[in-house]
Amino acid sequence: MTSTLAVVGLDAADYELARRWDCENVLLDDHREMETFSYSYDQPYTPEVWTTVATGVHPRDHGVHGDAAEWDSLPLRVASKLTQHLHPEVRQRLGQPFRDRGHEQEIDRTEAPSAFDSGAAMGWPGITDAEHLSEAWSWASEIKFGELTESQLRRNVYGNTGEEFGFLVGMNGVVPIAGVHSHVLDVVGHVFAKRESKLREFYERVDELLGVVRRETDEMVVLSDHGMKVSWVDEGEVGVHSDRAMVAATEGVTGELPESVFDVKAWLEANTDADDADDRDVTMDTAEQRLEELGYIE
Ligand SMILES: [Zn+2]
Repeated sequence: MTSTLAVVGLDAADYELARRWDCENVLLDDHREMETFSYSYDQPYTPEVWTTVATGVHPRDHGVHGDAAEWDSLPLRVASKLTQHLHPEVRQRLGQPFRDRGHEQEIDRTEAPSAFDSGAAMGWPGITDAEHLSEAWSWASEIKFGELTESQLRRNVYGNTGEEFGFLVGMNGVVPIAGVHSHVLDVVGHVFAKRESKLREFYERVDELLGVVRRETDEMVVLSDHGMKVSWVDEGEVGVHSDRAMVAATEGVTGELPESVFDVKAWLEANTDADDADDRDVTMDTAEQRLEELGYIE
């Protein structure tokens, strides 16, 4: 059986907050603060950083930056280009009426090689489709317009978090490396940046759920792209991304923990076993006619 490295891209997991609240499954056996970067905006921008984490290269080279989302219609793409220097949240709000009418917005993907090429990834911005990230952005505008209750927000974030963490459990023993992006702590970090006990509840629940992933996978890594400025730690504006990104690993993961988001890819690859995938085509033991009757094939 393949030994699997499970990689959790835990968006906005703040190194200071994870330690303050003693989140043992976010921090795992070994952990450190990791250097991140800002490029298109004055704070680290999620799609840019995650694509760099997976590819090891700068946004100039992987191509996912600033205007990282593409609309499915030409007029919207043009409008999107014209507004690309506005703040992402403003652009999100401008796009909402179109999103409500069913226009889809896809986050750009890079063609650069990534750490997950020999395995599988889900929802990783810049690498796979990232529907959960787009969804989370749209909740932010629903909240802005008073269209989301706290209990709906909880259902939304934990529904997606469960799918994301479940993916890693399902992939264990199946691929040498599996990665997932989870936006839960980013969303609730923006929402509860002035309410410590509320945000703490989410960190503790996420930590519990990561305990399940830790128990059910061979080795595990937790990474973040940035942290979150909050009123009980930071001076000045809160609810903006902090530089307190982090990295953590279980004890079987070898090598020094990466100092910067640019060092992650090489480190993950050094900890990824060779793929022993079975490349034979799968064959069917049921008669075609039976499958036709059942509507599986035509
Ligand atoms: Zn982020």
